[in-house]
Amino acid sequence: MKQRPSFPARLDSGKPQVAPKTLLGATRVVAAPSSRVKPVTLVSPTGVGLESSTIRARMVKKLAEQGIQDAVVLDAMNRVERHRFVDSALVNQAYEDTSLPIGLGQTISKPNVVARMIALLREAPGLQGEPLLGRVLEIGTGCGYQAAVLACVAREVYSIERLRGLHDKARENLRTLRLPNLHVIFGDGMVGYAQGAPYSAIISAAGGESVPQAWIDQLAMGGRLVAPTHTSTGQQALVVIDKTPQGLQQTLLEAVNFVPLKSGIA
Ligand code: SAH
Repeated sequence: MKQRPSFPARLDSGKPQVAPKTLLGATRVVAAPSSRVKPVTLVSPTGVGLESSTIRARMVKKLAEQGIQDAVVLDAMNRVERHRFVDSALVNQAYEDTSLPIGLGQTISKPNVVARMIALLREAPGLQGEPLLGRVLEIGTGCGYQAAVLACVAREVYSIERLRGLHDKARENLRTLRLPNLHVIFGDGMVGYAQGAPYSAIISAAGGESVPQAWIDQLAMGGRLVAPTHTSTGQQALVVIDKTPQGLQQTLLEAVNFVPLKSGIA
């Protein structure tokens, strides 16, 4: 049988009446000046966060073994408490490399996919030499987890979600993290978010038939877009698009399995 992380079990045995998420939620993320490479610091006033930090460190070690080499990305994955973003019934799976349901038929991406996509953004030839990504647009806030990770590696993050229920949930999940450089928006990300453009990076957590023209238009020169999209064989794969003075450069990468990109709000 698969080994489960032990921290909720230990918490349960000590305090059976309290949901693990509530207890672990006592660990706070406090924002630091956004010009620094490490914009957030973990504060654990009660010490209960130590249990999840051990398991998170194990997840990060596994990500490194799986080929994620970017220390800034690994550090961000270590800072954001994924268990805060999933339902309490799923807390003991929060640090496994698996996607999890977040309600309304949507899923939070696997940690490996989140780390991989953000590392790809940071590898953009046009963005080299920058300690942080500049303005980033995320399509598909979902539960807000990836948005929080992005806020650790970018100066400004705009994250848009089309489902009101998830937008509200993300707001609630993110409230105590106090990330002043993260803006969550309710709207149809199919048309991007012109108010924040141009973006040095655009990342989509939902896959469409093709990459909407609005995203390309809102991408800054030298910027990079990473999104799941359908290929000619009908499969879904990650696509990287770089906006260069010579034109758009598109690279098709590995097959992925994201929820569909849909238009309109609901
Ligand atoms: N990054 C999220 C992943 C959520 S799953 C997380 O960390 O939880 C992808 C999300 O994209 C879903 O919540 C879905 O509702 C949303 N989505 C799909 N099409 C969209 C659109 N056109 N605009 C905004 N969000 C969209």
